[in-house]
Amino acid sequence: MESSNGFRNFTQMKNLVFLILMTLFLQQCVQKKIDLTKQPTQQITMEDNTHTNNPYYSRTDRTKLNVSNEEWKKILSPEVYAIAREANTEYPFTGKYNEFDEVGEYYCAVCGNHLFRSSSKFASTCGWPSFFEADKEGVIYKRDQSHGMERIEVLCKRCESHLGHVFNDGPPPTGTRYCMNSVSLDFQRDKK
Ligand code: FE
Repeated sequence: MESSNGFRNFTQMKNLVFLILMTLFLQQCVQKKIDLTKQPTQQITMEDNTHTNNPYYSRTDRTKLNVSNEEWKKILSPEVYAIAREANTEYPFTGKYNEFDEVGEYYCAVCGNHLFRSSSKFASTCGWPSFFEADKEGVIYKRDQSHGMERIEVLCKRCESHLGHVFNDGPPPTGTRYCMNSVSLDFQRDKK
């Protein structure tokens, strides 16, 4: 009789342990599910596509803009304004698109004009996102002799914001290296 009770207690205990383990396992699953649903939100912030307070931003209108810096200062974040409108440079190896190889399109962070396709991006060691080819309708060039250097500045064709510089030490097929500031760019991932 005693051994039968013992056996029953053992079985009950085993069931209890099984139940606890199952509960823990299910909690883990729910936790994982929550984490997965959080992931897209993080990716959206990476794309930074919120331009609700910028009336000039458009990914389709290529009409040239004539907006004063006084006006841009009211619209853009201090970081975007300093780089795109005052031609500052972000610190190397700090930009969000430096080590970034998602497939999609790059637009001007100031006005939304199309600038680059991800297929022209290459792994440069210079510390800034680099492309071997730009959208011909997206960019214009300007001689830049600042800081005691002779360089070619790259600007957005639509809003004339500073994007970076272009050099002739890029990879094939063009041999060109568009060295860009991540801050001046907006990325849109291809829809699957
Ligand atoms: Fe622009």
